[in-house]
Amino acid sequence: MADFGGADLEGFRTQAREWLEANFPKSLGKDVEAQQTALMSPEKPAGDLALWKERMGAKGWGTPTWPAAYGGGGLSPAEARVLAQEMAAVGAVNPIGGMGVGMFGPTLLEYGTEEQKKKYIPDIVTGKIRWCQGFSEPGAGSDLASLSTKAEDKGDYWLVNGSKIWTSGGQYADMIFCLVRTDFTKKHEGISFVVFEMHQPGVEVRPIKLIAGNSPFCETFFTDVKVPKENLVGPLNGGWTVAKRLLQHERSGMNGSRGATAARPDALGVVAKKYVGADEQGRLADSDLRTRIVMNEIDQRALQQTVRRAALEAKGNSGPSAATSIMKNANMKVAQDRAELTLEFMGHQGLGWDGAEFTEEERTAVRSWLSGKAGSIYGGSNEVQNNIISKRILGLPDLTQSH
Ligand SMILES: Cc1cc2nc3c(=O)[nH]c(=O)nc-3n(C[C@H](O)[C@H](O)[C@H](O)COP(=O)(O)OP(=O)(O)OC[C@H]3O[C@@H](n4cnc5c(N)ncnc54)[C@H](O)[C@@H]3O)c2cc1C
Repeated sequence: MADFGGADLEGFRTQAREWLEANFPKSLGKDVEAQQTALMSPEKPAGDLALWKERMGAKGWGTPTWPAAYGGGGLSPAEARVLAQEMAAVGAVNPIGGMGVGMFGPTLLEYGTEEQKKKYIPDIVTGKIRWCQGFSEPGAGSDLASLSTKAEDKGDYWLVNGSKIWTSGGQYADMIFCLVRTDFTKKHEGISFVVFEMHQPGVEVRPIKLIAGNSPFCETFFTDVKVPKENLVGPLNGGWTVAKRLLQHERSGMNGSRGATAARPDALGVVAKKYVGADEQGRLADSDLRTRIVMNEIDQRALQQTVRRAALEAKGNSGPSAATSIMKNANMKVAQDRAELTLEFMGHQGLGWDGAEFTEEERTAVRSWLSGKAGSIYGGSNEVQNNIISKRILGLPDLTQSH
């Protein structure tokens, strides 16, 4: 991994700029939001977006700091920041993402065998394979270690039986990383971490239809699913440690640094003016609303700076820590407050779900407000994060059994 500083970093900047000039389809740069929306859709990208994804995957720059030996970019954190700046300058969105990149890949790089890394990482780097997460069960959410999906040792394979719930994107996934019980006599020390194919006999996926009509997640059933022995990640009965690490990676992706929940910090006041109007000095007419919008933007910027500082302090040589719980809770709070404020200044226009009397912006605001509620549940609820903060960061007595 090259660790350029100063002039060398500028050399890399030139290199990145030239590569983007030659490879990023200019048609895409005109609409960043359209790229983001298309990439979040379950449909596979088409046209120039597909081409962009293919080129970024082949270059490894969608996973810029991952080892080049497995197809990653092999860049230093400083180079990766330069690349992100140059991509932002031309309106390029990173087309490589999903649970493979945000959760499973970094965990496998730490806990996987050489064979497992060679087998799975290249397809994550190119965005070829979609992964889903089989952790939660009907009786095991916050208390995840109560899970009971079992994997029996059948000599040359594991026989998996049980069910998972809230499997996001399970209906589109090719592979699942899954927690299974391999020892019923112990709780945390009886859990193992396995991966297997979703398209095989015995795996059944039932999308859960929400009132809004969409199905972001599924119930997933396993009946006598045969899982090869080599698909165990980490030690037998040592899956809890692997899972905790993966959850830290999951939460570190929810700190707002990837712009998912709290994008465009300066836009809120601008949008508010359209509804509330301006005073004679050109400021938002409602002073109370003005104060609360400014407070929200201060919180948001403070969070972004804190996340950046924490990343710089870590200098890429230590993985995410329990502090990801603080960042996750803070980001979700800022994003939810922002969504509340938006609906408030939109007034009755902020109650629209369908219909021509509401603008696209208004309909999106309502959907974001509703979907944002899930932010304090997935990846571990707010209360569970608070338990982690009190136990692992503040060193308070452990009065719970949660992860
Ligand atoms: C949009 C979305 C996507 C998801 N995607 C996935 C996925 O892809 N894969 C997956 O495996 N899971 C997924 N989940 C599940 C998610 O991880 C769980 O919903 C979450 O861990 C909470 O578990 P639960 O729903 O069983 O709630 P419960 O554990 O039953 O909690 C209910 C309430 O009790 C509180 N509570 C529970 N225990 C404690 C405690 N010890 N101290 C204080 N309060 C407590 C909780 O905070 C919560 O408010 C997803 C959830 C959502 C909403």
